[in-house]
Amino acid sequence: MISEKMYVLGSKQSCIREIFEFGLKRKQQVGEENVFDYSLGNPSIPTHKQVDNTITALIQTKNSLMLHGYTPAGGDKRAREAIAEDLNERYGMKLNADNLLLTCGAAAAVISSMKAIAVKDSEVIVIAPYFPEYTMYAESSGMKLVTVPADTKAFQIRFDELEKRINSHTQAVIVNSPNNPSGAVYSRETIYRLGKLLERKGMEYGHAIYIIADEPYRELVYDGTEVTFIPKLYANTIVCYSYSKSMSLPGERIGYVCVTDEAEDSRELLLAISGAARSMGHVCAPSTMQQMLTHCANLRPDVEAYDRNRRTLYDALAEYGYRCVMPKGAFYLFVEAPGGNAKEFAARAMRKDLLVVPGNEFGCPGHFRLSTCVSHDMIKRSLPIFRELAEEA
Ligand code: PLP
Repeated sequence: MISEKMYVLGSKQSCIREIFEFGLKRKQQVGEENVFDYSLGNPSIPTHKQVDNTITALIQTKNSLMLHGYTPAGGDKRAREAIAEDLNERYGMKLNADNLLLTCGAAAAVISSMKAIAVKDSEVIVIAPYFPEYTMYAESSGMKLVTVPADTKAFQIRFDELEKRINSHTQAVIVNSPNNPSGAVYSRETIYRLGKLLERKGMEYGHAIYIIADEPYRELVYDGTEVTFIPKLYANTIVCYSYSKSMSLPGERIGYVCVTDEAEDSRELLLAISGAARSMGHVCAPSTMQQMLTHCANLRPDVEAYDRNRRTLYDALAEYGYRCVMPKGAFYLFVEAPGGNAKEFAARAMRKDLLVVPGNEFGCPGHFRLSTCVSHDMIKRSLPIFRELAEEA
């Protein structure tokens, strides 16, 4: 017998993947240059030269059994030290290797964190719009997913709505800033206010309410925007980081969990996260990538190409009458669907081979997402179609 639940997960693709695969088929039929695919968040800037050079040097100089062998479950100590040093320098922290666990990207970090704090009747709060995979992570952790409706004016946190949803079962709030899909970044004041609210509610209910800070886009910010390192303001934070986007390494599956000593039950929490990862068969993160990080943990991406795409698309869409909040980070634009129905708009766009993702699975059915990690040339060539779609609405 086969688990119906797992069969459904495996056979029913995410809406994003479905659109992406439709695009691949269409490219074969009508030619690559005639399909305008804004579906997937696959980085489009090359991996940092130093990362490639380091990997090459590791392969050429290291004993292959050492390079490709298992590492300790939590990750290579020198890699964790290098990351801790970098975070200490950037954010004035006092972290060491023991505050970090290396993971297979942010996905493994987030789901392991959720599993680690899932007790009977647990609830986890997400703020719309949110990464659709959270729904599956919550379900497989046995947690109820509770959604705070979107603030569609600025994509910030609706604190009144959030507070109403916190109760004695609330174990965590997932914070994804810079946000996929809106590109919103929460200010220091917002994080401070959130921390104070969770502190007060945690006292009221007699247990910590964690922030799970899902941060694969931390380095992808524009206009000098600052991304607050949340544990500085709220100790009960589980930072889930990934190099997928910042180093353009999504297929290499490398990221980390970071919990400071100041978090409640810090050691036990990290052990529980490690246990949760183990329970899903994540015995260690990819070893070559771990060793690469011992040399490259302090690298930052050059986001100029993403910034240029963001500006070109935003300016053109605004000119055609679309409404959109200018993203401060990540590499997406989250646009109000003309007519108010994103599914209907996405279907109209698809008939013209313009592939956009309706916001329904992000908890925001009136918006659609455009990934701006695409070629600038494709953006330019797609603009007449956006104009046509706006005029038809
Ligand atoms: N969280 C968010 C908000 C994302 O957008 C993504 C990927 O797109 C992930 C987590 C998963 O990232 P990773 O490739 O590091 O597992």
